Amino acid sequence: MSRPRLDGKVAIVTGGASGIGEAAARLFAASGATVVIADIQDALGEAVAASIAESGACCTYARCDVTDEAQVEATVAAAVAAHGRLDVMLSNAGVLLPTGPVTEMDLSALDRVMAVNFRGAAACVKHAARAMVAAGVRGAIVCTGSVACVQGGFGPASYTASKHALLGLVRAAAGELGRHGVRVNLVSPGGVATPLSCAVVGVGAEEMEAMTEAHNVLRGKVLRAADVAEAALFLASDQAGFISGHNLVVDGATTAVNPAVL
Ligand code: NAD
Repeated sequence: MSRPRLDGKVAIVTGGASGIGEAAARLFAASGATVVIADIQDALGEAVAASIAESGACCTYARCDVTDEAQVEATVAAAVAAHGRLDVMLSNAGVLLPTGPVTEMDLSALDRVMAVNFRGAAACVKHAARAMVAAGVRGAIVCTGSVACVQGGFGPASYTASKHALLGLVRAAAGELGRHGVRVNLVSPGGVATPLSCAVVGVGAEEMEAMTEAHNVLRGKVLRAADVAEAALFLASDQAGFISGHNLVVDGATTAVNPAVL
């Protein structure tokens, strides 16, 4: 089977300035896509876009806080105006805040987590789908979920709840958008050493990788952002042309087995 390609396609990657989003932006561009990185870290986003463009790909940065629907709508409109169409939305921006145990839960921080991980993704799904449907584009929307989409215990309850809600949104959207030929899926990683996970655990990337490796069911390999990007690329590509409403878990079986039997 040939590698998935995105030649001639236009993709927006939210949270593309760092971590999994950056890896996806780089891979999408290397796979032929025109890429718009949408993030709130302007200096980082500009630098990543410039370094991708150096390789000859078309990649630009747009400031877009996904918690502000108007900014999401404007980013989608600008991408369509500049490049003529939108084929792929990777709604990947996310946060994990230490909202504490349920009995002590910081509800303001819970609102913030939901605003980015769930409401922000909903805005991305909404406006990407509107652009695709209006133009008759059989597009692909991919949301970055998490193992926290399907199990508790991977981060605080606020994070788990936001990712479970995202799973529901993706399934409902896949149902509604299928008649327009628009596919909606999730890619759900296990632990990856990124600024998000390292900040929460309070360790550096190397220590984070050692910690995730120690908890892996699948031995001999560490999950990296590039591995998650490969799964997102597949879902975004025409090779996944009949896959919609699916949660592609990239966790080396961690959520598939009962840890008590290992
Ligand atoms: P990261 O911190 O490296 O990247 C997240 C990016 O999202 C950052 O560039 C940040 O600026 C951006 N962002 C945050 N809030 C935003 C907003 N309001 N608007 C626009 N952009 C915003 O973290 P990451 O680990 O690469 O996370 C990417 C996604 O992967 C998240 O949805 C996260 O929940 C998910 N995820 C991460 C892990 C992991 O272990 N790292 C595991 C499962 C799922």
